[in-house]
Amino acid sequence: MLPHGGLPESISPYLLDLIGKTGGPKGPIGLQFIAQPEKEKRYSKVKGGLDPLNEDLHEIAPGVIYKYRGKINKKGTVTQYGRILWTVTRLCASYCRFCTRGREVGLPPMHKTNSTATIAHKFFLSDEEIEQVFTLLKSHPEINEVILSGGDPLTAPEPYLTKIIQGLVKLQKQGHIDIIRIGSRLPVHNPSAVKGWHYKLLAEIKNPYIMLHINHPAELTEQTKEVLYNFRKISLATILAQTVFLKGVNDSEDTLHELFINLTKEGIRPYYLLNNDPVYWARHFTVPMKRAAKIWGKLRPRLSGIADTAKFIIDVADGYGKVAVPEGNSWKVDLSQYRDFKGKKHRT
Ligand code: SF4
Repeated sequence: MLPHGGLPESISPYLLDLIGKTGGPKGPIGLQFIAQPEKEKRYSKVKGGLDPLNEDLHEIAPGVIYKYRGKINKKGTVTQYGRILWTVTRLCASYCRFCTRGREVGLPPMHKTNSTATIAHKFFLSDEEIEQVFTLLKSHPEINEVILSGGDPLTAPEPYLTKIIQGLVKLQKQGHIDIIRIGSRLPVHNPSAVKGWHYKLLAEIKNPYIMLHINHPAELTEQTKEVLYNFRKISLATILAQTVFLKGVNDSEDTLHELFINLTKEGIRPYYLLNNDPVYWARHFTVPMKRAAKIWGKLRPRLSGIADTAKFIIDVADGYGKVAVPEGNSWKVDLSQYRDFKGKKHRT
């Protein structure tokens, strides 16, 4: 087993430059991308630390993770819509040391892995595998939402991503799915890699959503802002920001305040502040729950109603839901435990 999942240390020249300007390897950007093998291998023997969200177990078609299931009653009426996460590549423009999918993302070509995930074994899906997923979507009326993920879907070559997105757009027009989201960190990892064709392709989607992974205000550079502006103006995308709470990077009320306010100024809504997932190679980044809730509680009153749309979330370790952490400063709550969507108790 590699000391830190399979994550290679691969950093774009653009990010290297940003790291140099923001305190170097120990600065808030450097810590996110520069490997610290001693820390990353410290918990490699911990059971369940490779795939704590149980994604491999929930893969039902090539790259398709179906955890948030829809429901259909006996009369055939959809009573609850479901959504799939579709991992279409294992490549990113740089690799975040705390990546939840380090068991598959960025693996070098010859590396053997125990993961059963399709993209742990290939960089891209075949035409047949893509067709299998379209067929699945046609035969599951309870699935109305697709979240493209990976890796980073926007790093995929134009013909490949075009095939996937145009196929989804067709299904959207036919009424098989309603919502298409794209998870990406490319505007942060390497804004110059976002090209005109990306904007035009996403413009084909009806009401596209981009889930932007961004963790620190220094990531919102002029180049990144320009790319995000183009996605909003050319693709007519709604951009929602997802931020991972990371010790040493953004575990401060002032840092998160600056990030959320600046995102809001750019027309981007802070959406999730995510507790760091318990992959073994990233435990040194986890902010203890009591401290995280305290920061969160102090931050909320400082934000406008738009900036405070974010929820502080725990992605449940064995894969049963995203549970919002209540504001400890407003309610008297026991932050040491919570229940997931199936009613199971967990300790923080
Ligand atoms: S961008 Fe996302 S998928 Fe890629 S390395 Fe970072 S956390 Fe992992």
